Amino acid sequence: MSFFTREHGKLKGIAKSAARSRRRFGGALEPMTYVLASFVEKPKQELVRLDACEIVTSPLSEPVDYARATALAFLAETLEETLQDHDPQDAVFRLALAVLEQTRAERIWLPVTYFGLWMVRLMGWMPEIARCTECGRSFAGAPAYFENYRDGLFCGEHRHPAARAISPESLMLAARIFREPIAALAVEEWPRNRAADLRRFAVQGLERHLEKRLRSVQALRELA
Ligand SMILES: [Zn+2]
Repeated sequence: MSFFTREHGKLKGIAKSAARSRRRFGGALEPMTYVLASFVEKPKQELVRLDACEIVTSPLSEPVDYARATALAFLAETLEETLQDHDPQDAVFRLALAVLEQTRAERIWLPVTYFGLWMVRLMGWMPEIARCTECGRSFAGAPAYFENYRDGLFCGEHRHPAARAISPESLMLAARIFREPIAALAVEEWPRNRAADLRRFAVQGLERHLEKRLRSVQALRELA
């Protein structure tokens, strides 16, 4: 299994006799559980050995409906696919903790959007969101466009005919997402259709750079 540590980045490990001593690990090995872990790393071995886990916060301490499970799977899959082993990413770690806390039943669309956009940015894949990548002109209240085959955001003049739009409202939300903590945005209502274009843009940025489809994204799309 993979676990994401603050100091050492993502690591792959096995839990010592987890099958035999469930008491020892309890729910600590459930996906997206925040734990204090003791582990041993041996030279020339790829897997670290997890000796003990103490749960700090568990996603299971709150109700888990299908939508929340899907959102948690999106966080886990995105971390797994974007991070390199042994590469500490403190900003990503803090982002994941903040977003996890806000990922609640019936309230998944802000966390998914916030996490997706920030991951694109923290990986260094986010273009300037206020102006056209090609001509540099400010979008100034007009939509921006993004495309599958090149990076950037484009104005109406430099868009490809098949490009997808991001509304001016969503561009303003993106600016707020990059400026405000998720807890401040979470006091507002975030129905599924709010900033859906930003979510598509974030996912496209992730999938384009990872050169693969994220399974959890398909599940998110299918949520009614
Ligand atoms: Zn332009």
